[in-house]
Amino acid sequence: MRAIDMHTTAPHTTAALTEADRLMVVCNSCRYCEGLCAVFPAMEARRLFQDGDLNYLANLCHSCGACYSDCQFSPPHEFEVNVPRTLAQVRNDSYQAYAWPRAFSGMFARNGLAISLVAALSVALFVLGFVAFRDPGVLFGAHGGPGAFYRLMPHNAMALLFGIVFLYAIVAIVMSARAFWRDIASGTPGGGIAAFWQAMKDAGRLRYLDGGKGGCFNEGERPTDRRKHYHHATFYGFMLCLASTSVATLYHYLLGREAPYAWYDLPVLLGTLGGIGLIVGPAGLLMAKWRRDPVLVDETRFGMDVAFLVMLFMTSLTGLALLVLRATPAMGMLLAVHLGVVFALFLTMPYGKFVHGIYRFLALVQYAREQH
Ligand code: SF4
Ligand code: SF4
Repeated sequence: MRAIDMHTTAPHTTAALTEADRLMVVCNSCRYCEGLCAVFPAMEARRLFQDGDLNYLANLCHSCGACYSDCQFSPPHEFEVNVPRTLAQVRNDSYQAYAWPRAFSGMFARNGLAISLVAALSVALFVLGFVAFRDPGVLFGAHGGPGAFYRLMPHNAMALLFGIVFLYAIVAIVMSARAFWRDIASGTPGGGIAAFWQAMKDAGRLRYLDGGKGGCFNEGERPTDRRKHYHHATFYGFMLCLASTSVATLYHYLLGREAPYAWYDLPVLLGTLGGIGLIVGPAGLLMAKWRRDPVLVDETRFGMDVAFLVMLFMTSLTGLALLVLRATPAMGMLLAVHLGVVFALFLTMPYGKFVHGIYRFLALVQYAREQH
């Protein structure tokens, strides 16, 4: 592996980065944990740690807790080494540091409150919009057959609104990911497709969430793979829901077939499977978070973690409820609530826990490049 030499380091910008620097110096002398995950080999390739290096290592960490469980220098030892919690603090700060545009970076500070307000406002606006732009009676009437949803909101208005917010989310995420990448990857040559492919495989199977093969130390000394399974359910559930929306868009524009579709149609099958994943995964992760050993937790960002999982859960719950009750008078209100939640999810995606997946993937790409 390439050794990365640096001869000077600027003072760190936060207390968490300063503490992470101290821990990396201790760990670089000890090296007991080098087989546990990618963080330690990446750390060993460095002698000094700039902010960008620490943000990179923090996002490479999957928070499995194994290095805390194994560490002979953890509290009450005077070195007070707690790598998982310190890297969680640095990682959470990094989302705010790279946010685009800068004016919205403050949303990370009180993320739970910010996302709750955006979601509540968004749902209220959809309900009011349905009433204002249509006959109020349409909200509580039963509608059936192709085009039933568009009796409450025209398809073009829906496509335009969600197209704009989705595009904004993509631009904001790409801009912040670009700033992160520039900070962590400058000066590393090559890697190309091979590094990208390796990172895809490592991310797809959550290779470093296994605590060095024993499992995640979420609740004390007994490691399990539960967090990994819940992450998989969430990720693949989200991807299936995206696939469902994409197929429905093709149905609409290429085949001229309007939603809602029959239960055996591909968009419904994909959406139902994805929806189940987005119920099971976020619920399991919320439970795991609740039970997590407090010593591993960055308690200042608890609201951010919970808000994102609740938004995913609510997106799925309202979507599945809409599927089951779409032929009843409850359809209008359920559609307003579902669209409101999805709109808020897209709008807040660049300013919430969603970005952890992007940053962690980029950190894995960088790690694969360094290995290369
Ligand atoms: S976490 Fe503890 S045991 Fe592991 S490398 Fe660092 S100092 Fe050593
Ligand atoms: S918590 Fe797990 S992933 Fe993070 S540094 Fe420790 S062993 Fe590696």
